[in-house]
Amino acid sequence: MKIFPSFIIVFLLFLIACGTDDSVFLNKVIVIDPGHGGTAEVDTFRVGPKGEREEWINLRVALELEKLLSEQGANVVMTRVDDTQIDLADRAELALENDADLFLSIHHNATADPGVNFPIVYYHGNASENEAGVALAKIIAEQIKADLFDEDTPSVIASDHTIFPNSGTGVLRRSYGIPGVIAELSFFTNPEEEVRLRNEKYNRLQAESLLKALSEFFEEDTHTIYEKHSKIELPPFAVYQEGERMSPEAMNWREYYEQARGIYDGNNIQNFERAYELATLSVRSFPDSPVAREAHLLRAKILDDMGRSDEAVKERRRANQFYVE
Ligand SMILES: [Zn+2]
Repeated sequence: MKIFPSFIIVFLLFLIACGTDDSVFLNKVIVIDPGHGGTAEVDTFRVGPKGEREEWINLRVALELEKLLSEQGANVVMTRVDDTQIDLADRAELALENDADLFLSIHHNATADPGVNFPIVYYHGNASENEAGVALAKIIAEQIKADLFDEDTPSVIASDHTIFPNSGTGVLRRSYGIPGVIAELSFFTNPEEEVRLRNEKYNRLQAESLLKALSEFFEEDTHTIYEKHSKIELPPFAVYQEGERMSPEAMNWREYYEQARGIYDGNNIQNFERAYELATLSVRSFPDSPVAREAHLLRAKILDDMGRSDEAVKERRRANQFYVE
């Protein structure tokens, strides 16, 4: 066995000390939640065209991020470290009982349209109330896009009420009060993306990008989380959920929106009912698409033009609370 010269050991200790002392992560409790797990036998939609499963990708990225954060002095709590099923309630409970400074649920997305691939980050509830969630979501979406996508790729920052209209997602609802998001880093239903996601080196790049984002969040963390519905309450808007999003009809989300836009711009008021239907269909099929916010705003405009201004006000509010530009 070779003995390291003592100056190298001293230097290494110095590096370790430098690495953690001024780290924004020092003493921060961060709960990392690799989405899903242990469902390979029972669900058929959480799988890419070549057979890679979302829960496996989520776990690989999460374990890489755990390593990176621990090196930086963070106190990392994992909701799972292998391919097992964990209740959503238990995942959120871990964040609450550890008095977490941050909750990050790592996911990858699926949709019927194989061409789709971009990051989506969800915060819980209403944007005007969940300032910390919105700030964290924005930072993560921007960082992931900058590090892993082309410049012209869209990203979406949306409330979890866009996809689960009645109460949002289980983990974010139950851990509300702790800055938290669900980050859908990319779409495994996109064949080229699935190939990248199977590669551990790429998973490491994803984790490094998340590390940068979390660091930036803690550097600027001055955001409040107000009590839910203390400022605004919106009625649910029904959408396709999970498996339904893989239906052939859901492929047409962009077309529906563009057709609606075309009819509206054509100023043919007799057809406004149809334009409204198409815009609604677009957001129902893909409620967190890059055109969803615009589609909701178009619905509001059409409602105004049809003399239904009370509904228009509500839809405009929804666009502003549930989607952040
Ligand atoms: Zn997921």
